[in-house]
Amino acid sequence: MSRYTDEQCRICRRNGEKLFLKGSRCYSDKCSISRRNYAPGQHGQKRPKLSEYGTQLREKQKTKSYYGVGERQFRKYFEMASSQKGITGDNLLQILESRLDNVVYRLGYGSSRAQARQLVNHGIFEVNGKTVDIPSYLVKAGDVIAVKENKKDTGAVKINVEVNAARPVPEWLEKNSETLSGKVIRLATREDIDIPVEEHLIVELYSK
Ligand code: SF4
Repeated sequence: MSRYTDEQCRICRRNGEKLFLKGSRCYSDKCSISRRNYAPGQHGQKRPKLSEYGTQLREKQKTKSYYGVGERQFRKYFEMASSQKGITGDNLLQILESRLDNVVYRLGYGSSRAQARQLVNHGIFEVNGKTVDIPSYLVKAGDVIAVKENKKDTGAVKINVEVNAARPVPEWLEKNSETLSGKVIRLATREDIDIPVEEHLIVELYSK
């Protein structure tokens, strides 16, 4: 039996939009959303109308998938966001964007957040000169993230540097392709975050 490898694409198809979970494939005509933009399964072509609760739940699941975060950690981030000053939904997205795996992806050193997480796990990156192999590590303004000197020849990193050279880096980060590093100028604001999510629905869901 062949191995099933389309799980992430099913999440996109279930949501009816591209969530960019698979790196370069997401930008190619192999993207499942381009080919079959309907939900997976036997009744996938009939999209049921969602209840208010269903819509809120879908938005939460979508955001979790986007950042590759499990329920427990996501709830923890929500609690952190609610205890901070400002708008809870904005705070939540800022926390998610500050994860080291996301920053590595945003800098173009990972082709997807999933790959970035794997590279971080393998101890390829350092933050302010110290190895950090925890994908959920939250960066701060002023932090410098860099590929470790002895890992610069890692195949995946080299490929990503080349393939993602033209991918725009968000304004809150500054990339240095020469040294394979990046600096966090400031934390991301809502305007910087391009993900198609209505975060107020997540706040409503958790506030029930
Ligand atoms: Fe699959 Fe990426 Fe397309 Fe989503 S955006 S369906 S993960 S190829």
